[in-house]
Amino acid sequence: MSMTSEKVTDPICGMSIDPATAAATIEHDGTTYYFCSQGCADTFVANGYTGAHQAK
Ligand SMILES: [Zn+2]
Repeated sequence: MSMTSEKVTDPICGMSIDPATAAATIEHDGTTYYFCSQGCADTFVANGYTGAHQAK
């Protein structure tokens, strides 16, 4: 049993992923974000470190 099996959500596509196997990670403003792919990470940065379609 792993103690680090918590799933996280890719803020771009909403996919549930394991942080240990995330394709990309970004640290921003004290928070670490995990992504299923580099493309999602690139989109996150392009959106100004927010999830897609979440403009306020
Ligand atoms: Zn994704």
